[in-house]
Amino acid sequence: MRKATFLRLKLREASFISRALATSRHPVLAHLIPMRRCNLACGYCNEYDHVSAPVALEVVKHRLDKLAALGTSVVTISGGEPMMHPQLDDIIHHIRSRRMIAGLISNGYYFTPERIKRLNKAGLEYLQISIDNVEPDEVSRKSLRVLDKKLRFLSEFADFHVNINSVIGGGIRNPDDALTVAKRAVELGFSTTVGVIHDVDGTLKPLSAKEKEIFQQVKKLGNKDHARLNWFQDSIAEGKPYNWRCRAGARYLYICEDGLVHWCSQQRGYPGIPLDQYTMEDFDREYNTEKWCAPTCTLQCVHQVGILDNWRHPQKTPAQMAQERATQHNPQIPQISQIQE
Ligand code: SF4
Ligand code: SF4
Repeated sequence: MRKATFLRLKLREASFISRALATSRHPVLAHLIPMRRCNLACGYCNEYDHVSAPVALEVVKHRLDKLAALGTSVVTISGGEPMMHPQLDDIIHHIRSRRMIAGLISNGYYFTPERIKRLNKAGLEYLQISIDNVEPDEVSRKSLRVLDKKLRFLSEFADFHVNINSVIGGGIRNPDDALTVAKRAVELGFSTTVGVIHDVDGTLKPLSAKEKEIFQQVKKLGNKDHARLNWFQDSIAEGKPYNWRCRAGARYLYICEDGLVHWCSQQRGYPGIPLDQYTMEDFDREYNTEKWCAPTCTLQCVHQVGILDNWRHPQKTPAQMAQERATQHNPQIPQISQIQE
C-alpha cells in the first residue's frame, strides 16, 4: 500500500470514528452480500451455497444508495465469495462514489496481479482474508500452502490495506497453524488478527490449554489496536460470557442477498425487514434492545462497533421494550417497574 493511500485511509478512519462518537444515530458498518455462492465449503460455515446467482448490479447499487442515505460510514462486501460477483469492481466504485469506506472479505482464491490492479482502480480500501490452516483438510481449504502465491501477489500489487485473520477453535485441527499464518502475514507486510470461531452449530466451546497458549502468542504478533479492541476474546477463549451491548440492527447492519436487514450472519431472520423499508424507528428499537446471544458472541467486527457506544445508552430487555411500546399507545398500562413495586 502506498504511503499516500495509507495516510488518506487513516484520515478517513479518524473522521468516521469522531462522527460515530459524536452521534449514535447512523450505521457505522454494514456487511452487504451480493453473492451467496462460494467456491469452497468450509466445515464450520453456514454462510454459503453452491447454486445462487449474483445479485444484479442495479439492485446492489440501490441498496448502497439506501445505506448512504442512512448515513453508513463503512460498507464491507462479503459472501459467500464476493470475488465471484462479475461486477464487483462496479460495486466497490459505487461505495466510494457515495463517500463510504469500501472493504472486502474474501477467501483469497481469485487474486491475480491483473485482478488486484482492477480492485486498486475501483477504489478498494480494505481486504480481509481468513486463513484457517497450513495444509488443506476436510474442514477447510483456506490454507496457507494454497494461498501463499496469492498473498505474494497482494504484497506486490495491492494499494489497499490487507489484513490476514487466522483462526482458533471450531474444529481447526492444528492450533500451531495460526502462529505460522500470522508470522507469514507479518513477513509480507500485512496486518494480522486472530479470531475465535464458532462451531458449525454456532455454539462456543472453550479453547484447550494449547489453543489458549497459541492464541496469546498470535495476539502479540498482531495488530496492537485490534488486540486492544478485542479484549472480549479473552473471556470467550476461557468459555466465559462477556458483558457488552450489541448494537446489531442499528450501528451494525447485515444485508443478505435478498436485501433484508438481519442482526448479523449468525442471527439471520431478525429483524428480517427489507432494507428499502428500514426506518430510524427500526434503528432505534434495535439500538436499544438487549440481544440474548451477546454474552457468547464471537463476531469481532460487531464487538468493535459496539465499543463506540458501550459507554452510553444502556439497553432494555425485549419485554421492557414491548412494554414501553404498549404504554406509548395506551398510557393507562402500568410500567413493569410499577407492577414490581
Ligand atoms: S470460504 Fe468463506 S463463505 Fe466460503 S465456505 Fe469458507 S468460510 Fe464460508
Ligand atoms: S450478539 Fe453477536 S450473534 Fe448476537 S446479534 Fe449481536 S453480533 Fe449477532
